[in-house]
Amino acid sequence: MSVQEMFLDLVSYPTTSDDTTGATPSTPGQKVLGAHIVDIMQKMGIEDAYMTDTGYVYGTIPATAERKNTVGFVAHMDTCSGVSGENIKPQVIKDYDGQDIPLGTSGLTLSPTDFPPMLGHKGKTLITTDGTTLLGGDDKAGVAEILCAAQEILAEKKPHGRVKLGFTPDEEIGQGADHFDVEGFGCDFAYTVDGGALGELEYENFNAAAAVVEVSGVSIHPGAAKGKMVNSATVAMEFCGMLPQNAVPEHTEGYEGFIHLVGIQGDVEHTRMQFIIRDHDGELLEQKNQLMRDAAAYLNQKYPTQPVQVSITESYRNMKEQILPHWEVIEVMEKSMRQNGVEPITMPIRGGTDGARLSYMGLPCPNICTGGANAHGKLEYVVVEDMEKIKDIIKTAVETVE
Ligand SMILES: [Zn+2]
Repeated sequence: MSVQEMFLDLVSYPTTSDDTTGATPSTPGQKVLGAHIVDIMQKMGIEDAYMTDTGYVYGTIPATAERKNTVGFVAHMDTCSGVSGENIKPQVIKDYDGQDIPLGTSGLTLSPTDFPPMLGHKGKTLITTDGTTLLGGDDKAGVAEILCAAQEILAEKKPHGRVKLGFTPDEEIGQGADHFDVEGFGCDFAYTVDGGALGELEYENFNAAAAVVEVSGVSIHPGAAKGKMVNSATVAMEFCGMLPQNAVPEHTEGYEGFIHLVGIQGDVEHTRMQFIIRDHDGELLEQKNQLMRDAAAYLNQKYPTQPVQVSITESYRNMKEQILPHWEVIEVMEKSMRQNGVEPITMPIRGGTDGARLSYMGLPCPNICTGGANAHGKLEYVVVEDMEKIKDIIKTAVETVE
């Protein structure tokens, strides 16, 4: 089966995840696709392919030669909940001419004016939506590439070590690593195939923390408040005013970290603020955490009622620390991309990935491209030739691992 055929088959399964159900996987459709993928794997000769109760699909390509390392490839089966993932009607645009692409009869247009990288895909085959749903290239492009690579690896029987495949549910609601069986997977390292443009190779993500700031006030009738009232809402504003005003998402990029006020609820009596804190550098993240504690300490000295309480919890960490001691994981992929004529593009992720969590669970796991673009929306598209190339890169990586 070609990557395009595999991809079109996979996106016909609705697998929107949902962070409100409390179930694992969060929606039943993910297990329907999981069972279908197990079936595909078994038919291509992956005898041990199976799905766990929690909707994780695993399988092994046995070694054909003696190798030191076992390598894994991981992709997620769910799609994000912001846009419908039901009844996806993909448009296959052959020999793309560089013009605007109307998306079905939706009135939406996918235009290189808005998305200049499209001009780099002239002459290639693009798959778009019909403008009513997302496409599901995130991450069914990754699933299709891994499955098609596996199919060819099994058929070609070239020398390679043991290879493991893993397909996870609920990545889009941040739970893709929750029930991942790192020990059972038994890999020395792995790759998530969940990135964007051809060549992307990501092994740096944010260090992340979350802070809750509680401000207690003293509420008194405003007519009799002099010298007695402590207005928690204005103390909260004072707290925010003490934070670096430029270190916010709307003013930062690249390696610049931020302290982001994501929510505030309050009145005179009580105000609660939620922050997320991000930095690629662990020390700079800790400095930002300390800034928040210092601001609270200052205000608690200023006001005798000691109104401010800050509690900070770690969310996830930069996988780079876990990747550096296993640098071969990057070398193998860089070499495999170059061997297929693709120059690796490494850049820091301004977010987290399942791979980051897996890396801290003991499985070093950078992220590679899928050939998709504009994920999580109706303007999503994938480039078939790039997907084919990524399938080839996966095959080369399997042969390259020592
Ligand atoms: Zn994804």
